[in-house]
Amino acid sequence: MLKNTSLSSRDLSVIWHPYTQMQTAPAPIAIVRGEGACLYDEDGQEYIDATSSWWVNIHGHAHPHIAQQLAAQALQLQHCIFAGYTHPPAVNLAERLLEILPTQQRRVFYSDNGSTAVEVALKMALQYWDNKGQPKRKILAFKNAYHGDTFGAMSVSGRSVFTRVFDDFLFEVHFLDLPSPENISQIIADIAAQQPAQIAAFIFEPLLQGAGGMVMYDATAFDELLQYCVSENILLIADEVMTGFGRTGKNFAMEYVSTQPDMICLSKGLTGGSMALGITTCTHQIYEAFLSTDKLKTLFHGHSFTANPLACSVALASMDLFTDPACAQQRTRIHTRHQQFLPELQQATIIKNPRLLGTVLAFEIITDNVDGYTNKLGDQLHHFFKEKRIMLRPLGNTLYILPPYCITDAQLEKVYASIREFISTR
Ligand SMILES: *Cc1c(COP(=O)(O)O)cnc(C)c1O
Repeated sequence: MLKNTSLSSRDLSVIWHPYTQMQTAPAPIAIVRGEGACLYDEDGQEYIDATSSWWVNIHGHAHPHIAQQLAAQALQLQHCIFAGYTHPPAVNLAERLLEILPTQQRRVFYSDNGSTAVEVALKMALQYWDNKGQPKRKILAFKNAYHGDTFGAMSVSGRSVFTRVFDDFLFEVHFLDLPSPENISQIIADIAAQQPAQIAAFIFEPLLQGAGGMVMYDATAFDELLQYCVSENILLIADEVMTGFGRTGKNFAMEYVSTQPDMICLSKGLTGGSMALGITTCTHQIYEAFLSTDKLKTLFHGHSFTANPLACSVALASMDLFTDPACAQQRTRIHTRHQQFLPELQQATIIKNPRLLGTVLAFEIITDNVDGYTNKLGDQLHHFFKEKRIMLRPLGNTLYILPPYCITDAQLEKVYASIREFISTR
């Protein structure tokens, strides 16, 4: 194939990529096909998708069951307005999802992606208190959190290189340290000093902060923090956009704690990673506060493609696969393999803080620079693994494996071998 007519070079003259410095970034690899845990470029080269295409894929690429359901739905109904009208995929998906979510969740609100699911939850929380005649203005979140790239979602995310230019435009949020047995009483004292009666909600990524560097934290201290919030009537928003659908081992990360959230945000794995769809669920208590003859108590939020039938149908197809016991077995298998690889990481002198939660394995490469997204090693690491045809896109000097659940043992072994090789080059 002539390079100057390749997809990759045509891309370079018309496209602006996400999270990409277009002046210095290498030409993108043009992916034309996917199968299982692998993607194939325009020259037929195979890549192992070890980070699930930005954490969305769970059952593998071009899964036939998902493709068939999508095609069938496309011949039936592709889209219709969702205010005043409904359709089978939306109702079926809501029913099936509520069956497997933490038990207090009663209502499903559809949107388009993880960021919009977060926006909806924030609006629900703020308007809940307003509708009850007790408006509250404060919101809690964790330092280093990531909840998306729209303005509300950025506001509740840690201030970072991602938000720097926009910081003055973001609403104020009180940021908490991640809980541990050592600091939990301090954190609770910190909230108590913030006039808890003024706090509308606390939004968090349960047990695993994704974009913040695959940071894992203590479930017991976290549960204690949540219990304190409940006692102060602070609404709990569990952002399970990344942790949902099995990533942390259990179906949802909130299953590791005893406290029930008031709202849950879902996206990424929701459609098995095949289409964009967002969901915000809530308890009956939240929902009820919007019921009124007063139209001003309505939740005025919606998107053109709210509850798109095609997206809902692939989410249903993904649910078929996800609720099959074979899926949980695959997650256990990946966890066990990671566990077997862990001692090698613990022994490597260039690595620190190797950690594991469910299907996610993460660690830092020790460098002279500060840890984090801007660490220069990131680009180098990305390039090293790309050359080996392993898609590992590090967060700065944090490297992690977050594979589709269908990844085979042999493919996982190739990923481990590439990491082993990187270690030996340092
Ligand atoms: C990715 C992510 C989001 C944003 O989702 P998008 O679909 O990318 O808008 C929100 N919260 C968490 C925890 C995420 O990992």
